Amino acid sequence: MKVIIIGGNPAGLSAASAIKKGHPDWDINVYEKGEYISYGSCGIPYYVADEVKSLDKLMTLTPEILEKKRHIPVHLFHEVTKVDFKNKSVKVKDLKDNSEFDKNYDYLVIAVGGKSNTIKIEIADELLDHPRVFRAHTLVHAEKLKTFLNSTEIKNVVIIGSGYIGLEMLEAYEAYGVKDITLIGPRLNFRSQSQEFVQKELDKHQIKVILTARAKKIEKIPDSDSQLRVLLDDGSELITDAVQLSIGVLPATDMFQNSDLEMLPNGAIVIDEYCRTNIDNVYSAGDCATSHHNILKKNVYIPLAPTANKQGRIAGEHIAGKTVDPFQGVIGTAIFKVFDLYCAKTGITEAEARDLGCQVATTMITNNEIAHYYPNVQKMSILLVFDTESHLLLGAEITAPSPLGAKKIDVLATALAAKMTIDDLQKLDLSYAPPFAPVWDPILIAANIARKKLK
Ligand SMILES: Cc1cc2nc3c(=O)[nH]c(=O)nc-3n(C[C@H](O)[C@H](O)[C@H](O)COP(=O)(O)OP(=O)(O)OC[C@H]3O[C@@H](n4cnc5c(N)ncnc54)[C@H](O)[C@@H]3O)c2cc1C
Repeated sequence: MKVIIIGGNPAGLSAASAIKKGHPDWDINVYEKGEYISYGSCGIPYYVADEVKSLDKLMTLTPEILEKKRHIPVHLFHEVTKVDFKNKSVKVKDLKDNSEFDKNYDYLVIAVGGKSNTIKIEIADELLDHPRVFRAHTLVHAEKLKTFLNSTEIKNVVIIGSGYIGLEMLEAYEAYGVKDITLIGPRLNFRSQSQEFVQKELDKHQIKVILTARAKKIEKIPDSDSQLRVLLDDGSELITDAVQLSIGVLPATDMFQNSDLEMLPNGAIVIDEYCRTNIDNVYSAGDCATSHHNILKKNVYIPLAPTANKQGRIAGEHIAGKTVDPFQGVIGTAIFKVFDLYCAKTGITEAEARDLGCQVATTMITNNEIAHYYPNVQKMSILLVFDTESHLLLGAEITAPSPLGAKKIDVLATALAAKMTIDDLQKLDLSYAPPFAPVWDPILIAANIARKKLK
């Protein structure tokens, strides 16, 4: 059998490895348009901030290891430009010499990932490559930014987008002594009062936050190479030494726009629980594909690394003909860091719960993260979203001074997966010792308070 995999990162390589494990004799080819494979984009903010010193550290596998140990050929700088689903063939462009060739497949895995969203803002194409306009989606973006910050002193930067990547990137600019940082976005990632804790953390670092206007255009300033103008939709403008674009991720599926491949309106490829698309023998996984949301009960686009790895593996095992457990779906669990504040969420928001017709209520508590007498004790917050009729937990958010508190989100994610009620949550046997938690774990306290609102 001939298998072609488009994309050499977590989803594509997980699929390739699973297929090869099942069928060492199959002919598998991975085409990757970039220079790097198997890297953790998640480490980009920490690489730029120089907490991770070298790019190599972000990579798990090299093409040499893949070829030598797993016998999977990876073709770097090879972009798949077209797929002919009828004739089961792909057109590949060798980006080094611009030559092209066609290659047939029996199975195709589309693992092309995502791309930075640049359509939400008016920006000329050539400005995307401007030496002072940055994105943080690929290692090439990361390298451009780190090289710039190492060689150029800047006084200010405007970060457009306040999702988790925009928030994580703040730390990188601060690490280079950039004093004047402006963050523009619709909200501070959360959609609840958890945002207040993020705002406090940003205040500590003197970040200027604009949540009341959107950046609508970026333009060059005539006769200036060192400054750019950001125009906002309230008529104001910012003159800045650099711009960071972090306005979300879109599936990198433009080449399938007019094909028979079923996609969501944003271009995410619709897949089933075995990562099959609507076209026979064509699979997809990771940041270019949908996942099923177990609470919202619909296909969603939540591009995160654990999903990419799991879906890639399931696609590969299914292609290899193994008996494979279907993908269990997602519930929106995520975790991120804003300077010294550790944030996490799982499940659905109050508004989403209302849209589902739930009798929704919320409880927000702040509590010591560890025993009150233990050194460096600080407060953490937990927000619970729940249904007052069924008592079911629906969602949760945490902000905490350390990973210890934020990782409690996994208890709540597990509770959601197990369809636990607030009553169940309140009875959990959670661990205690002074350096780890108060004797009443904050989750138990939050559940206890939530119980008072139950019918
Ligand atoms: C800054 C940043 C921080 C992140 N932090 C986290 C985090 O903390 N936690 C988390 O869960 N997730 C995080 N993510 C998301 C995570 O990195 C992705 O979910 C994961 O990388 C998706 O893997 P993938 O293989 O689906 O896609 P990608 O990693 O996007 O890989 C797709 C690959 O396909 C290649 N490709 C695309 N088109 C073609 C083509 N036509 N031909 C050949 N090759 C092609 C691309 O060059 C790319 O290498 C972060 C992402 C970024 C950018």
